[in-house]
Amino acid sequence: MKTRTPPTLNVPCAGCKRLRRKCTADCIFVPYFPATEPEKFAEVHRVFGASNVTKMLRDIPVSQRGDAVSSLVFEARTRLKDPVYGCVSTMAALQHQVNQLQAELLAARAENASLGAQLSEVMLLLSTVTPRASTSAQSLEAGNSVDVAITSAFDRCYSPGPIVS
Ligand SMILES: [Zn+2]
Repeated sequence: MKTRTPPTLNVPCAGCKRLRRKCTADCIFVPYFPATEPEKFAEVHRVFGASNVTKMLRDIPVSQRGDAVSSLVFEARTRLKDPVYGCVSTMAALQHQVNQLQAELLAARAENASLGAQLSEVMLLLSTVTPRASTSAQSLEAGNSVDVAITSAFDRCYSPGPIVS
């Protein structure tokens, strides 16, 4: 019984071109390594080897092969750039950045909590201030006494010594 062979493509994919073989319609590399991007296959082939890439792609569902190829290309490029650490150096740099940002976030939260406590203290002090005047004739004086009380409350709140009430 004769098996049907898929038709040979006029323009081979980057993989088959590099491997100097006929590229067929069912070639596993066709969707991911177009002839227009030969460097993608060259880098992946150099680091992982074409047969390993073929095996890896066969073990992955078709819907996830595009993502797998993207990560293989990224890993291959970083490995070629940094033969010792490869993409681990990128991960370490990003991890360092995450740690720094987390420390900054903690500091910002602590400052926020401290400012919130100071604000509560000021609000509490302001709530204890009651205008003395109730008549319209004394309103100007009352306004002045409230201003003095507020200034005094702020001074006490931000003074280095203990707050005396
Ligand atoms: Zn091919």
